[in-house]
Amino acid sequence: MTPHARIGATPLADFAAALFAAAGSHATEARIVADHLVEANLVGHDSHGVIRVPKYLDWVADGGLVPNRSARLVVDAGALAAVDGDFGYGQVIGRQAMAIAAERARVHGMAAVGIRNSGHLGRIGAWPEQLAEAGLVSVHFVNTSGFGILVAPFGGSDRRLSANPVAAGAPGPDGPIVLDIATSMTAEGKIQVARNKGERLPPGQVLDGKGNPTNEPAEFYRDPPGAILPFGGHKGSGLSLFCEILAGSLTGGGSSHPRNPTAWRLVNNMLTIAFDPARLGADGGFAADVARLAEWVRASRPAQAGGDVLLPGEIERRMKAERSAAGIPLDPETCRQLAAAAARAGVAVPAAIAEVAHD
Ligand code: NAD
Repeated sequence: MTPHARIGATPLADFAAALFAAAGSHATEARIVADHLVEANLVGHDSHGVIRVPKYLDWVADGGLVPNRSARLVVDAGALAAVDGDFGYGQVIGRQAMAIAAERARVHGMAAVGIRNSGHLGRIGAWPEQLAEAGLVSVHFVNTSGFGILVAPFGGSDRRLSANPVAAGAPGPDGPIVLDIATSMTAEGKIQVARNKGERLPPGQVLDGKGNPTNEPAEFYRDPPGAILPFGGHKGSGLSLFCEILAGSLTGGGSSHPRNPTAWRLVNNMLTIAFDPARLGADGGFAADVARLAEWVRASRPAQAGGDVLLPGEIERRMKAERSAAGIPLDPETCRQLAAAAARAGVAVPAAIAEVAHD
């Protein structure tokens, strides 16, 4: 088997930024998008890392994704705000919307900010992280346009819902506590990663086109296509439905439906609710209470000898430390796709990627 490439975060981000710049993004946008994707690789979410670069470039080429857009304020009512992303890069729109949420939560104690019509918002954990680093507590509900319909509802057998991630964040004793989960058993990107690596999926995640359980990633992409199951049976399915209502129906972005006018392009909508913990009556006790909770939960006797009880966000911090030191592993298929995209754009390919791509 061809070995994986190992590449440092900085050269990988420079390469990705050069590709986005070649596709028309101004330098700041190219850098923001590239850094977001590489950060996803660093924290271990390869499904939302540079594997996405060729897809984003295809979407720019077909007009589904529009470079150099900014979050446009469409509702401006104090603690309530909504922005339209005008189909720009979600990494830019999300960041600007979180800055609005932070500013308003400071003024009003809380803020609810809707994002509609954004390009792919990437690793949703980036958004609670941004707010937690600003000292705020937040929850986030995300849906997709009709483009991303992938998930069977509980009791169903075909695609009706999106992967619909939910995220939450809070400042914690050792850095942000960040929960970042799709409401599907797995993210679609992880099926792509498994297919690229030639691996099988764990049981109980995916149905084939006939509604039968399968662990073969290729079955998911056949015609008729397969479906991902929601996590937690009716509970995940219900949470996913509320992602559609909160992120889609409520923000004006629309719930997932194949007849949406935006269904031909990948659109993410998100509802963010952010709180300033100093303002909700915790009387300065918020940080101490969260620290006590963290200590209490972590002190649970590990279920397996040598195991660890982790807080949400911790596994990502550990992976980031490891990959910052050792480099980011990239599988051969991802290297080939990146090299092909670079050849089309006339951008030089880092040697670490070129070697694996040409093997
Ligand atoms: P996942 O199953 O890897 O779960 C990640 C979450 O679980 C994190 O909060 C992590 O800290 C926590 N976690 C993991 N292992 C843990 C442990 N041992 N103990 C305690 N907590 C632990 O994530 P996922 O559902 O596969 O989602 C992957 C990524 O895909 C996320 O970043 C998500 O935002 C992204 N996504 C994005 C979209 C989109 O439309 N933009 C759609 C779906 C998923």
